[in-house]
Amino acid sequence: MALLKNHKKYKIATIGSHSALQILKGAHDEGFSTIAICKKGMEKPYKSFKVADKIIIVDEYKDIFKLQNELLKENAILIPHASFITYIGYEKIETLKVPYYGNKKILKWESDRNLERMWLGNAGLKVPLIFDEPKKIDRPVIVKFHGAQGGKGYFIAKHEKDFREKIKPHKTKKYVIQEYILGVPLFIHYFYSSLTNELEIMGFDKRYESNVDSLGRISARDQLALEKVDPSYVIVGNMPIVVRESYLPRLIEMGEAVVNQSKKIVPRGLFGPFCLETILTPEEEIYVFEISARIVAGTNPYIEGSPYTWLKYNEPMSSGRRIAREIKIAINKNQLSKVLS
Ligand code: ATP
Repeated sequence: MALLKNHKKYKIATIGSHSALQILKGAHDEGFSTIAICKKGMEKPYKSFKVADKIIIVDEYKDIFKLQNELLKENAILIPHASFITYIGYEKIETLKVPYYGNKKILKWESDRNLERMWLGNAGLKVPLIFDEPKKIDRPVIVKFHGAQGGKGYFIAKHEKDFREKIKPHKTKKYVIQEYILGVPLFIHYFYSSLTNELEIMGFDKRYESNVDSLGRISARDQLALEKVDPSYVIVGNMPIVVRESYLPRLIEMGEAVVNQSKKIVPRGLFGPFCLETILTPEEEIYVFEISARIVAGTNPYIEGSPYTWLKYNEPMSSGRRIAREIKIAINKNQLSKVLS
């Protein structure tokens, strides 16, 4: 792609799902034209909220490969999000010819649980224990299945016997047995600029998951009276959190450690928005159970900005808009290659 200095000559494109409303709105706010690539039947929100200047309907998200020439002609820059990565697959993303915001090389590290663990552990962060054999289970564990499950079917087990009973309906699936951390979930949203090497805290959220978030609405007596109430973690939405201010120094250091370590594992490391998914215990230990190396849906409540982005920018600044701002600055400084891969 020939470098053009006027950002209005570029278009911001993404798949219509996950955080696309925020990404496209943020791009508009920064003066870009936008493209939403939607699966048939999924285009309504993007039309209704008027965030997309162009909507391209596809039968399958993988058809994005057939659209490449059209997207290249439009000077489109693709913005990844979780659905984008899940639907296309991180290996396939590497082969995309259309300019892509972020570092494709880091995707392998967030998509593979072992590599992810190595990355987080080597960054000095606390991660939950993994049990490689059910017979080694000596504490409560959470059993997670591989692939895009959205927490469906995940279960908690107390010991080996309990595990063997509960795994029966899922026998053919690949899973991981992880130590269950008792505490509150805290999802930390960061943005790391590859232009200024500065790390920003964008906000925090917790998830609203079915049915685990409604178990507290039934007394333990009634739960026992019901035939079978196992918690599940099907994600329904996200809720904003403002953290105790005295945690901020630690949380910033954690983000910095992850970025520094990322530079040791792949050239250029991690940049753009990312999220550490953590559990904070009553002892104030912070366990990181996952990293998302791209924008997370937990930033969606902050289309108008979060308390933290308000402190920094004094204008509405969502993570989606922050991405567009970064691309705009890169274009104007002739440094677009620093934010793309
Ligand atoms: P993602 O959509 O982020 O890829 P996922 O849906 O596959 O993730 P996780 O985020 O790994 O699933 O876990 C789902 C939920 O289970 C979390 O939101 C959290 O509430 C809970 N959870 C995950 N790991 C642990 C743990 N080690 N201890 C306690 N709770 C956990």
